[in-house]
Amino acid sequence: MLIDGEWVSATDNCWFDSYEPGTGEVWARVAAATEVDVDRAVRAADRAMHSGPWSKMTASERGEALGRLGELVGRHATVLAEAETRDTGKLIRETAGSVAYVPAFYRYYGGLADKIQGHTLPSDKPGIEIFTYREPIGVVAAIVPWNSPQMLLAVKLAPALAAGNAVVIKPSEHGSVPILELGKLVEQAGIPPGVVNIVTGHGHPVGHELTKHPLVRRVAFTGGPETARTIVRNSAENFASLSLELGGKSPQIVFPDADLDSAVNGIIGGIFGASGQSCVAGSRLYAQREIYDDLIERLVDRTKSIRLGSPLDPDSEMGPLATTEQLQRFDSFVSATPAEGGRVLVGGQRPTKPSEGWFVEPTILETHAEGIRAQSDEIFGPVLAVTTFDNEAEAIKKANASQYGLAAGVWTSAADRAHRLIRSLSAGIVWVNTYRATSPVAPFGGLRDSGGGRESGADAVYDYTSVKTAWINSSNQAVSDPFKVQ
Ligand code: NAD
Repeated sequence: MLIDGEWVSATDNCWFDSYEPGTGEVWARVAAATEVDVDRAVRAADRAMHSGPWSKMTASERGEALGRLGELVGRHATVLAEAETRDTGKLIRETAGSVAYVPAFYRYYGGLADKIQGHTLPSDKPGIEIFTYREPIGVVAAIVPWNSPQMLLAVKLAPALAAGNAVVIKPSEHGSVPILELGKLVEQAGIPPGVVNIVTGHGHPVGHELTKHPLVRRVAFTGGPETARTIVRNSAENFASLSLELGGKSPQIVFPDADLDSAVNGIIGGIFGASGQSCVAGSRLYAQREIYDDLIERLVDRTKSIRLGSPLDPDSEMGPLATTEQLQRFDSFVSATPAEGGRVLVGGQRPTKPSEGWFVEPTILETHAEGIRAQSDEIFGPVLAVTTFDNEAEAIKKANASQYGLAAGVWTSAADRAHRLIRSLSAGIVWVNTYRATSPVAPFGGLRDSGGGRESGADAVYDYTSVKTAWINSSNQAVSDPFKVQ
């Protein structure tokens, strides 16, 4: 682990195994932090923020350090992508693509570091000037899931550092190695010791202790809604501010005027990319009745031809699931579907090839009936639930009938319809004739059980600041005795 600029093992020298989902074998041993380690990391961050060289660096210097970190990520992209692939099972073609994009996030927030400004306010009191500063908020706990560790860390770490904070990172127990690899680059980027700390281990005790630590002032969390509920309760002890990027059950809506070839590609990529283990997976498909049979036939054909294979093989099109719990989750949803009134159109099994690793087939379920769990619950696997609609109003109603509200996809060639749908869909992100696109410039986040707060985009940097209001009496008039009538 990285605590106060030192590479250390846990105080009680405990370790846990990290498995390689492509083989099902242990490939790394990772330190299991204790309460004491978490406390040391938070205190180191607090010191680094308030009295170390970081606190004396100018905003421009912080920005330059972030730029250098981005450059180093770019230079070490091969190592970082391979670590992510081996630890999480995500395809090398996907991790190589996402890691290559990560420097753009460090550059973007590096550029914003010296543009974080307060305001001079139009005072309503003659002779009194009022203005605001934006100060760093305090120690940030960055809690990251396994499905895209580098990217989901960058959207927290980059704005937190740009604003002058120090950070304690808690990677997922299923995705620690890529983040430890990133830790090696932090010092080289000229970021002083203690500003970025990494404590590894399970939700309990590591995440738990971190989120209730009194010196943590902000928790930036990506993960599941149940974990988020615990975090909200823990952080309430200290009123730490929160951003919560949680799960999703995102609808894809296809109208008859859509370019169906393009829609098929977007739908396939939207659900089978990352083996469906993506918060924005487009896992519910609604197709207008006139095109339903044609669209489903195309999707089933394409799904049958998806090449499953080792995540390290650049020719593989879909890799394994990340954990054995994910395998069981897939099995339980798919096997329940026929009894709940649905039908398996393709997939649904564990494949015979590859014979090792945690693979499942890409799966499409027809879910016309009400109450099919695969239609309503986040599976976090390669399972697409499909059904029909008859008109625009019905499509919107069905798409919005979810406790989640992260993303939605719309496929249409009519501009007026696209605008109507964007306004009517209850989601934090709406993609029209594209899917799963992200950018450092674009806010990302959801509604209801998909969480709150937004990551990425220029405004996110302000979430890592607190406002200080300053009042100055520049009138040259002394303050009069408050108890003497004038
Ligand atoms: P998870 O909630 O199990 O774990 C996420 C992180 O929280 C891990 O680091 C874990 O160790 C930690 N954690 C667990 N218990 C904790 C506790 N009590 N206190 C503090 N931290 C604790 O989620 P996961 O299985 O790693 O990831 C899958 C979930 O993440 C899915 O629901 C998915 O949709 C969501 N996700 C959301 C986004 C988004 O941006 N909205 C992106 C990716 C994943």
